[in-house]
Amino acid sequence: MKHILNCKIIYLFSCLFMVGGSFAVAPISVLIMTGQNNHNWPVSSQALKEIMESSGLFEVDMAISPVAGEDMDTFIVDFDPYQLIVLDCNGDSWPEVTKERFLRFVNDGGGVIVYHAANNAFPDWVDYNELCGLGGWEGRNELSGLYWYWEHGQLVPDTLPGPGGSHGHQHIYELTCRTTNHPITQGLPEKWLHATDELYDRMRGPGNISALLYTAWSNPETGGSGREELLIFTVQYGNGRVFHTMLGHAGPSIEENPAMECPSFQTLFLRGAEWAATGQVTQPVPFNFPAIQ
Ligand code: ZN
Repeated sequence: MKHILNCKIIYLFSCLFMVGGSFAVAPISVLIMTGQNNHNWPVSSQALKEIMESSGLFEVDMAISPVAGEDMDTFIVDFDPYQLIVLDCNGDSWPEVTKERFLRFVNDGGGVIVYHAANNAFPDWVDYNELCGLGGWEGRNELSGLYWYWEHGQLVPDTLPGPGGSHGHQHIYELTCRTTNHPITQGLPEKWLHATDELYDRMRGPGNISALLYTAWSNPETGGSGREELLIFTVQYGNGRVFHTMLGHAGPSIEENPAMECPSFQTLFLRGAEWAATGQVTQPVPFNFPAIQ
């Protein structure tokens, strides 16, 4: 009788292990910081949530701040339940307690995505700019840091004074991988085409880039800088991993949103998100990734 009971207990534990090990992998918990932006944040934040949740890897909440000019003191955010924070914000300063909690979250090893115009935000917050690596607009200039670009196989600083952040008109452009053995880029084509989008240039900051993943030629004929610009990279901040993508200008609606619908944007975003949260990437490369042969 005792033997049979033991067998039943072992069988029960085996079943529980199967459930835990094979069928019930918990999704990565994500919080999108949003609510103010010079972009169409209701579209971008919803699109990011859908892209992430439809992968099956992520469970996404949103922290929506008061609108611009309203009292931000109520925007107290608890980051503890999350593994990854997605920054889709560009507006009024967060309250000190939220800023402190956010930096503690990252310092303690939390993951962060700096998405598109989030690198415009908070020009005077030193730690935020260090976390982003590069930023633009909102009064940034030579006092915000050097203008970093790519030339002759290396990062080059432009030491001349000038504004930080600009872009030409939106167009389709090519991205080139500069670190092929990073978990985010491994297995992806070295060159790929991105759908119509803005191409940020003349970005300034501390330039504390850990791994430069992709650059793109900013063609003067499109209003660009005439330089190879740094568009996707990682930053180490404390013990936290930061994935920074300047791609993904939101369209007028979820249905009309070409830069964010691009398979390359979505693939890179999902791989960057998993890496920032866990340090590894388990996703296969999708068949529709727009490689350049
Ligand atoms: Zn934009």
